[in-house]
Amino acid sequence: MSVAALIDPVADGSGMTSLRTRERLTKRLMAAGIVDETVIGALRQVPRHLFVEEALASRAYEDSALPIGWGQTISQPYMVARMTQALLAAGPVQTVLEIGTGCGYQTAVLAALVRRVYSLERIASLQARAEQRLKALKLRNVRLRHADGCAGWPEYAPFDGILITAAAHGIPRRLAEQLAPGGCMVLPIDSGRGQVLVRLTRQRRGRRLGFRHEVLEPVTFVPLLEGVA
Ligand code: SAH
Repeated sequence: MSVAALIDPVADGSGMTSLRTRERLTKRLMAAGIVDETVIGALRQVPRHLFVEEALASRAYEDSALPIGWGQTISQPYMVARMTQALLAAGPVQTVLEIGTGCGYQTAVLAALVRRVYSLERIASLQARAEQRLKALKLRNVRLRHADGCAGWPEYAPFDGILITAAAHGIPRRLAEQLAPGGCMVLPIDSGRGQVLVRLTRQRRGRRLGFRHEVLEPVTFVPLLEGVA
């Protein structure tokens, strides 16, 4: 993929200020425990200000979630880095399915790190905008679709990794079935008493679906909803 267009702060019109604020953010991420240098590199490169409305662009390199319309948010950079790091830590990952494209920021970060990213979004307007943005950034290794992510994307399964950016009430069964043996799924799970970020690793052997569970940390995400809008 071409990340050149993402890296050059002058080419994207945002100037050196943006480069400095991006550096400040990456330092903050490192201090918060993001140790994977490839993940840090991807967050440094991807121009987050292009994923929010112009009025919010000056806040794009703060470590906070921001509204993107339709009651949804662009995830906090720390959370994008944390989830990406957790997904890639288990071993080589070539294909990732993301559920909840939103503005497409996490999609772009993944696209800088793996061979192919598939991403599903249930809100048509958000999906269309994300598609435009990622096309403008010339990311050719992403495939997006307006669809209910709970059904996954069977045509391209199995995936080495699945990343869900909305909170589920349990392990979404159809998604679990589309994970390759040895692959990881990172998702927020809402237990009814709050949400936690969980990493599930699918066992390599056996015909039944078996997973190793790891609870990573408490989180706050919008809910994973069924059906399209
Ligand atoms: N990945 C985004 C975060 C998006 S917020 C980022 O980089 O910032 C979560 C998104 O999940 C919302 O856009 C919401 O519409 C979407 N979503 C919720 N349930 C969904 C489902 N069943 N299928 C697909 N997308 C879903």
